[in-house]
Amino acid sequence: MPGQISEDNETVSVAIVGGGIVGLVLAVGLLRQNIKVKVYEQAKGFREIGAGIAFTANAVKCMEQIDPEIVTALRSSGAVPTSKGDETDPNDYLRWLDGYSKMQKKDEPYYQRMLYRLDAGYKGFEGCRRDQFLESLVKIIPPNVIECRKRLETVEEMCEGKVRLIFADGSVEEADTVIGCDGIKSRVRSLLLGENHPASQPGYTHKVAYRTLIPMEDAIKALGEYKANNQHYHVGPNAHLIHYPVANRKFVNAAAFISDPEEWEDEKTVAVGEKADLIAAFAGWSPCVHNVIDLFPEKLDKWAIFDLWQYPAPYYSKGRICLAGDAAHASSPHHGAGACMGIEDSLCLTTLFKEVNRTIQEDPAAKGHALMTAFETFDAVRRTRSQWLVNSSRRACDFYHQPEWAEKDKWVKAQTCFEELKDRSHKIWYFDYEGMVDDTVQGYRENVLL
Ligand code: FAD
Repeated sequence: MPGQISEDNETVSVAIVGGGIVGLVLAVGLLRQNIKVKVYEQAKGFREIGAGIAFTANAVKCMEQIDPEIVTALRSSGAVPTSKGDETDPNDYLRWLDGYSKMQKKDEPYYQRMLYRLDAGYKGFEGCRRDQFLESLVKIIPPNVIECRKRLETVEEMCEGKVRLIFADGSVEEADTVIGCDGIKSRVRSLLLGENHPASQPGYTHKVAYRTLIPMEDAIKALGEYKANNQHYHVGPNAHLIHYPVANRKFVNAAAFISDPEEWEDEKTVAVGEKADLIAAFAGWSPCVHNVIDLFPEKLDKWAIFDLWQYPAPYYSKGRICLAGDAAHASSPHHGAGACMGIEDSLCLTTLFKEVNRTIQEDPAAKGHALMTAFETFDAVRRTRSQWLVNSSRRACDFYHQPEWAEKDKWVKAQTCFEELKDRSHKIWYFDYEGMVDDTVQGYRENVLL
């Protein structure tokens, strides 16, 4: 359990708005630094949709730095490497297959042309069910820390150096500072930037996603033993399909992404979708892709993918209010790293609050200055990297959806994208998080003295 807080060593109180992956991981990290934390979540509980999510090895190392119990929670939620591997080669790979052509090979019923394979190292990705990971995280947080059914309406900075949070149910809470981890449609972001600021609203990426969990035995029948047990992308003109095993390999998480030239008019970003839409989008693709699409339910959610690409937030903090995770830099999911970026944010903030505690122990009157310095340092350390991911993810999807995949004469041209995808993936996977921690400490210490 992260450190219980006694009244004596209370130094700073933090209100986290949003109990998604980033809000909960950050809460665990701050509790470990003896910070007084409250998480306010609008939902009535933590049973998210049963979709899968994968974390890079680097994000898992960041979790370890924040609090090793987070890694234990991840693994106890059934996280498994997204490639099965064996003694000769235990590593994880990203594998891109030609999803479009119907080339067959005798005696290989599940044959598809391999376009590119990228070694992500041992346990390069670990996949789990989101709901199970959230439930495991909740178990390592003391019960009085999280309050559900608390939908934030507004935040006021008070002259006595506190923030006041006002919720939809009329209740009011106070803290020294507030961190908005309230996701892509963040209320805290619109309060920070102003409701009419263009970055207060995310933009439509013109891609829609359909997701499902497929029992492993069905996935094996559709894809063969090997592909069902290993992460694969099937790319083609204007669409792609990705799948990887989750939940101790009992299920395969599958997500199909389709380009949509239209505008998204609905205020909600989730609409009722039909398998027929998927069948139409993947018409004429390879038999393996058809087999997987057949396993999607007849009626399912259609997720419009929004991000903050067009209007990135110009700053992540103002005064005592700060943003982290998707609230700060919501990305489309094509690098599978949006939440990983939020884990890096959490490591940076946890490091900063350790520093803030030190400052306050030396000079309790410096609390306000220390908090603002911490948030300014967070903005300086995290903003460009996290906003780069938003751009890069769009570019990755453009590669997966190239129309050239449908024209044999242009296959070689289309395949030239993989060298760039390798560089982009490496920038995510091999991030020097220890260097980030050093920069964070140095940046804070230089500025807190001013
Ligand atoms: P969220 O998960 O959105 O959580 C925000 C929380 O805030 C929610 O619980 C919400 O109810 C609450 N909230 C919102 N408003 C309020 C309010 N006013 N008051 C109180 N509470 C509020 N990332 C990866 O790293 N790996 C992957 O494999 C991956 N796959 C993805 C696949 C898809 C199809 C998609 C769409 C995304 C994927 N991502 C992936 C990205 C990842 O899902 C997000 O980056 C991550 O969930 C962001 O976490 P968060 O905690 O910042 O926000």
